[in-house]
Amino acid sequence: MEYNVAGLLRAPHGETRHHEVDEEPSFALIGARLTGHIVGSVDLMRTQQGVLVQADLQVEAEVTCARCLRSAQTVLAVHISEEFRPSVDIRTGMRLWPEPDEFIEDELFLDEHHVLHLDEVVRQELEASIPIKPLCRPDCAGLCPHCGADLNEEQCQCAQPIDVRWEALRQLLHN
Ligand SMILES: [Zn+2]
Ligand SMILES: [Zn+2]
Repeated sequence: MEYNVAGLLRAPHGETRHHEVDEEPSFALIGARLTGHIVGSVDLMRTQQGVLVQADLQVEAEVTCARCLRSAQTVLAVHISEEFRPSVDIRTGMRLWPEPDEFIEDELFLDEHHVLHLDEVVRQELEASIPIKPLCRPDCAGLCPHCGADLNEEQCQCAQPIDVRWEALRQLLHN
């Protein structure tokens, strides 16, 4: 997702541009496998400082169920609201800060050709939107902690109630 905003930078404050998004992800996530296109909208607005990005994006993804460890389909959705500042003055061509390759925390900059690179912001937001414990379905029974059987598919013997007579005997032995 790259947008040349040179024209927008020359426009008065408050001017907007609307973009529809439908593209293959150019990056991978750590906690999920992206299986579809990133779709949604990106709205750009000229501000005093630079360009405000408001984006609503979503993408289909495959995650691993935290209970049964099978893969599960989900949709990751993010809302992005970030302001990018120019690194070169649009009228004079003068380099503004930062210096090339300088990194300033919590600040986003257009590149020297007035191109807004949104991919890295989108990647970070999507990564943060992955559920901490994704489930294949809300009532997933998970794996038996003793024998590892998938309790969605089979009932193992581990959870069988202990025969009450044996239980009485066991208590006697332990006393
Ligand atoms: Zn599951
Ligand atoms: Zn078991």
